[in-house]
Amino acid sequence: MATFKNEFSWSLSRNELFHYCPRKYFYNYYEYWDGWLWNAPPLKKKIYQLKKMSALDMWLGDVVHRCIKFSILHKDKEAPFLLDSLQKRLAHDLALSFKNAQGPIQAKNLLLIEHYKGLPVDEHYWFEKGASLLKTYLQSTWYEHLKTIPANQFIYVDADDIKSMQFDVNGLRVYAIPDLCFYNQDGQLVLIDWKTGKERHTELSPQLKIYALRLQLVDGIIPSDKSIQAYTHYIQTGTDVGRLIEEADIDEAYAIIATGKQQMLALLEDEAENKPKPMACFEKTEDATKCAICPFQEICN
Ligand code: SF4
Repeated sequence: MATFKNEFSWSLSRNELFHYCPRKYFYNYYEYWDGWLWNAPPLKKKIYQLKKMSALDMWLGDVVHRCIKFSILHKDKEAPFLLDSLQKRLAHDLALSFKNAQGPIQAKNLLLIEHYKGLPVDEHYWFEKGASLLKTYLQSTWYEHLKTIPANQFIYVDADDIKSMQFDVNGLRVYAIPDLCFYNQDGQLVLIDWKTGKERHTELSPQLKIYALRLQLVDGIIPSDKSIQAYTHYIQTGTDVGRLIEEADIDEAYAIIATGKQQMLALLEDEAENKPKPMACFEKTEDATKCAICPFQEICN
């Protein structure tokens, strides 16, 4: 039987976590491994459970993403139906997470960090925030525009299975897949990264450059042959940040991945086995605000 191994891979979210807090990265990508086994040591089991938890902000963003995806795939569903579905999903998830927080904790069950930590969760605030995000999207030009795009013009619509996210970059497994990619009425390719959080970029984001690299390597779409418009769409404000993809963006995507890979490999004791150096080599952040919302806080000492 093939051995299930923790193989080294790269993604932009992994890269960001590496810089956000190396210790959190260590828990999240190494120390949790095998924590699902019935005979795993209790600390490993705990780390695995903690890793599977989600923060309120991330959970809300995920639910809104799924609503947008649904609206693209089911163009006959109008705004009232979508808003109602969103509210039902939010209410369902919040109730379920609250119930699951009462224990016993199971890694496979939805559990929000805030519920787990017993922090106050103002449900009304999250209902309002979700509704506001979706309403803003439903009033955007993208929503109207996407209704006019035939189904066969879409290349990617927020695929969420882990297998389809991966591709190979010079022998390295990379995880990245666009939220949305389609041909518009003029035959131009449009690449979109939806963001429910605050605006972080004022120019083409690294994520979009990596998506463009994926288009080149997986789909054979080369920016010098095909015009690709790429935007981060900030749902809260309705702002689009982006431009046409250039060949230099592909070079930069390669460079981002290569640099990130090198930095991560430097903290491995054995590259072939993807075995990390001792935990002490993975520094803790000194920013206490990050710890306050970190699921690993209780075991991070
Ligand atoms: S509690 Fe703080 S230092 Fe520890 S892993 Fe989390 S963010 Fe990093």
